[in-house]
Amino acid sequence: MEETTDMNRELMLDGNATAGVLFELFGVEMTAAPIECATCGNEGEIGELLAFTQGPGIVLRCLKCENVVLRIVQTPDAVYLDARGAVYLCLARSAS
Ligand SMILES: [Zn+2]
Repeated sequence: MEETTDMNRELMLDGNATAGVLFELFGVEMTAAPIECATCGNEGEIGELLAFTQGPGIVLRCLKCENVVLRIVQTPDAVYLDARGAVYLCLARSAS
């Protein structure tokens, strides 16, 4: 076994699985939104991130280095977005 991470891969989804929640939060389609990992500099799309949705929130991890890029926790009256693992997150403006 080379895997020594504490991640439970049985529970792993890809970022597209979180598309519905992200759309609800941001009001735009997010899976194709560009994002850069602050840890390894890998650039990709949100839909390519490794998603873990079984915990108390949604955790999106970098495909390459597996560090947490985005964390979303929803409470009854607020949504917490922890984006410290991302250099940037690019949201397209919806055409009007
Ligand atoms: Zn990374």
